[in-house]
Amino acid sequence: MKNLVITIDGPAGAGKTTVSKALADRLQYKYIDTGALYRGVAFEAKVKGISVDDEHRLEALCNDLELRFVRKNKGVCLYSGEIDISDDIRTPEMSMMASAVSAHPVVRKALLGIQRKMGAEKAAVFEGRDMGTVVFPQADVKFFLTADLKVRASRRHKELEEKAPQKLAEVEADMQRRDNNDSSRKAAPLKPADDAILIDSTEYSVESVIEQMMKYIYPNPDKPEKLKVTAS
Ligand code: C5P
Repeated sequence: MKNLVITIDGPAGAGKTTVSKALADRLQYKYIDTGALYRGVAFEAKVKGISVDDEHRLEALCNDLELRFVRKNKGVCLYSGEIDISDDIRTPEMSMMASAVSAHPVVRKALLGIQRKMGAEKAAVFEGRDMGTVVFPQADVKFFLTADLKVRASRRHKELEEKAPQKLAEVEADMQRRDNNDSSRKAAPLKPADDAILIDSTEYSVESVIEQMMKYIYPNPDKPEKLKVTAS
């Protein structure tokens, strides 16, 4: 298997996490969820009583943060120092707070180095909002995964059912607000890289999306060394 950096960007609920994990498993690559890092910053800001608008204190917080991923039986967990915060960061409140802190260039700058370090050995699938545009502009294959808002909201509503139930209409409204924040911010807005392959997952299963991606990653399975990527 080639040693590639593969990026998957897109709006909330497009299926990035499921698809990225499955693709990484299939390729035996590392899977890195960069949204978890922004959620980690948001969580620590909340714990320390720092406002999401307080750029100075957020900068100081980021300089002291020790976020790292730890592989466990249940999957990849996010640690802040010695504490596993994987469950704490998966609430609707943390989603909105992550979106707010992520608009600050100081926060993005602090996380940029961490993400690039994680990609240094390649053989990794990175999911996020600015992977193909800012963090890894030289990535080998870039995808932009999207789906209709209603479909994305319904998927997220199901996911939250067990952990932090929320009404479907609220999930949809939060999602739209978050997409608007993420797409309209000045620093590294959510958008496809010019050379990204766009995939709309509205009517496709996870398996089908993975199959489509594999065709771009290995266009000719008989000659896997000849990587050719074409945007469509
Ligand atoms: O992917 P996830 O929904 O967990 O991301 C939470 C928030 O973190 C996003 O809404 C976005 O504001 C921010 N984010 C970002 N850049 C990334 C990944 C996430 O700004 N690469």
